[in-house]
Amino acid sequence: MARSQKLMSVLGAELWRSALDFAFPPECIGCYVDLPEETGPSLGQRLLWCSECREKICNQPENCCPSCGAERNPAKFPGGRCSLCRGMKLHFEFSVCVGNYTGVMQDLIVRLKGTFDEVLALQFGRLLGQRIAMNPLPHECDMIVTTPTHWWNRFRRPSFLVGVIAEGVAGQVGLPIEGNALHCLKRTKKQGLLSTPQRFENVAKAFGVSNPKVVAGKSVLLIDDVVTSGATANQIAKVLKRAGARRVVVGALARGVKHAVS
Ligand SMILES: [Zn+2]
Ligand SMILES: [Zn+2]
Repeated sequence: MARSQKLMSVLGAELWRSALDFAFPPECIGCYVDLPEETGPSLGQRLLWCSECREKICNQPENCCPSCGAERNPAKFPGGRCSLCRGMKLHFEFSVCVGNYTGVMQDLIVRLKGTFDEVLALQFGRLLGQRIAMNPLPHECDMIVTTPTHWWNRFRRPSFLVGVIAEGVAGQVGLPIEGNALHCLKRTKKQGLLSTPQRFENVAKAFGVSNPKVVAGKSVLLIDDVVTSGATANQIAKVLKRAGARRVVVGALARGVKHAVS
């Protein structure tokens, strides 16, 4: 399905939800608690998250590592990198993550991937977009690209959730999405099942830039759902830079904090 058609179908689901708002109050997408009535942003901008869910899943920006996005004790990385990314050769300049991959955030992402809930993906994207908009560097980006999925996985799975997340981000930050900028050169194993060294090996030579002219000289915002070890984002940033991209910034829903990447 074309990206525009896919977005219309997700927005259609949202429209249906809005229609139901006439009869039922809007619910939080995370915990289904009724949300207070508001005359806030129009459909296409609306964030359906209650304050409790936001508090549970969102990290504190002032406590986040600017390089990898993990929320850590800032006393342990004064002005530098946190222990998770220190020592790693990074090809991206900056990362923004909504939260750490733990607790309620982890539960919601498991739900997202298990049910292919596109409305949840769009809402997650808007939350990420809001977080990205708080930082100056992503504002200087020229375009959004997404971590690509191998064609076989696209064929087997009903949704391209990262694409829907990117649509949510785009609506908040006002950047165009270059949906076909990247492609997979090989089918990789699931990163979550591998050790850290195996993850880097797994994604080596796994991605290519489809049209270098599109990214040459540009500042690129790369969107993914979870940055676990940082291996995938780093490999993609590497090929983007090699293709001429001026800068790569990473935006993700969650940052894995259990695996050191040195
Ligand atoms: Zn909630
Ligand atoms: Zn870090």
